Amino acid sequence: MEPSIEQLYEAPTPEMLKKLQYLLKKGDPRKIMKQLPDLHDAAFEKVHCLDCARCCKNYSPRFKTPDIKRISKYLGLKESVFIDTYLALDKEGDYVVKQNPCPFLDADNACSIYDQRPSDCQRFPYTDEDVFFKRPAVTLKNAEFCPAVHSVMNALLAK
Ligand code: SF4
Ligand code: SF4
Repeated sequence: MEPSIEQLYEAPTPEMLKKLQYLLKKGDPRKIMKQLPDLHDAAFEKVHCLDCARCCKNYSPRFKTPDIKRISKYLGLKESVFIDTYLALDKEGDYVVKQNPCPFLDADNACSIYDQRPSDCQRFPYTDEDVFFKRPAVTLKNAEFCPAVHSVMNALLAK
């Protein structure tokens, strides 16, 4: 049975996560890749990011050099000032926001730099690209909090 929208916002059960882990490890990548675009579209017909913003509130995208150049230019800041004001290096050596929620998240859950947002934000939660099965640890982590990933996971496991 298809989960209700409320159920998508709840954390998936450990059993479901185990099944997803198995599918990502043993499933046919070509078959999964073929299904993802439709499942991604179906998920985002049900789930609305402006009602959620869990990713922007709790995690940070990486700010790669092109992101930093583009966003600092948009904000009219020198790159060094933008970095000093908003970013810190994480243990992998990537620039991330100094603290959560993201400083560019508005009170209504909109992104104040939406058109210039980092590439990671544009691609998140990777439900329409091969990162979905190429980086299973990322997908499993995202499935725990992102209702869109939860939706795609349920649909894949129901097939
Ligand atoms: S991408 Fe996922 S976690 Fe982020 S706002 Fe949209 S539904 Fe929520
Ligand atoms: S830059 Fe925008 S989309 Fe990305 S985490 Fe911050 S508020 Fe969210």
